[in-house]
Amino acid sequence: MTNAIFLRMRTLLITGAGVSAESGIPTFRGKDGYWRNLDPAKLATAKAFADRPKLVWEWYRQRRQWIRQAQPNPAHEAIVRLARHLNEFLLVTQNVDDLHFRAGMPHEKMVQIHGDIFETRCTGCNFVSPGSGGSAGLLGSCMLRGKSGDLNSAAPILQPDLESAEVPTCPECGEFMRPGVVWFGERLDTRQIQRVENFIAHAASDVVIVAGTTAAFGYIIDWAVRARAEKGQLLEVNPDATPLCPFATRLIREPAGVALPRLVDELLPTLRLR
Ligand code: NAD
Ligand code: ZN
Repeated sequence: MTNAIFLRMRTLLITGAGVSAESGIPTFRGKDGYWRNLDPAKLATAKAFADRPKLVWEWYRQRRQWIRQAQPNPAHEAIVRLARHLNEFLLVTQNVDDLHFRAGMPHEKMVQIHGDIFETRCTGCNFVSPGSGGSAGLLGSCMLRGKSGDLNSAAPILQPDLESAEVPTCPECGEFMRPGVVWFGERLDTRQIQRVENFIAHAASDVVIVAGTTAAFGYIIDWAVRARAEKGQLLEVNPDATPLCPFATRLIREPAGVALPRLVDELLPTLRLR
């Protein structure tokens, strides 16, 4: 019976760069965010890529390197622990790193709403070189499409030398390749939006946790607020205040690596007793 009670705690968890900060991945707005005195919020744009593609690629290669060297921290691990106890759970992460995945979060319980930094895609056609984890595993060979958009899974794909070329070019059409992330000012992937919307529409969430994000994007606040059931909780984990604060039922002003393991310990026994 205990499990049946567990399963009723529908939970939406939203994470941002702060959750990976304790793994050594700089946030954009933190003091370590600047790279060679350049503002990440300006580098992560289509305009920066159009003006200085080589520089933007250098930055992304550096970030890929930092992420490869990093390990999931107790916040990632606590989230996986929570997810394992619930079958009505969705993680929406703004993080483009693969630390949630490497901590053990299954693809089907996670939406990487801002893409996957390890994916590389063409600016001119549909060619995609899959990322290391995240969405690549979920969509599999569907992502390897030729110019026509036809599935190309049967044919061996010639992987361009994406890591060493200054600005990699597409093996199909010759245009520049770019990282598979959503840049500032770009639209989200409609399939990923739909997954979040489906989760929210299906039923209200007993618990909504928003951790490590400035909540600067309207859709983050919107999803968190709309997902919460009338009597549900909306918990925010962030050392700093954000625009989400007025909507939260509880604020935890601590680093995610400290707060989330404790919060998960708190939530799981509570559920067992309900
Ligand atoms: P952000 O850089 O704008 O803000 C980080 C937030 O995390 C801040 O509110 C900060 O107070 C909080 N924070 C810092 N350390 C924390 C900790 N130890 N525990 C909990 N909270 C902490 O990040 P954002 O809101 O996610 O949005 C920025 C954009 O940059 C997103 O699009 C995201 O995809 C991208 N980004 C991703 C990564 C990554 O994948 N790891 C890293 C940097 C930026
Ligand atoms: Zn192409």
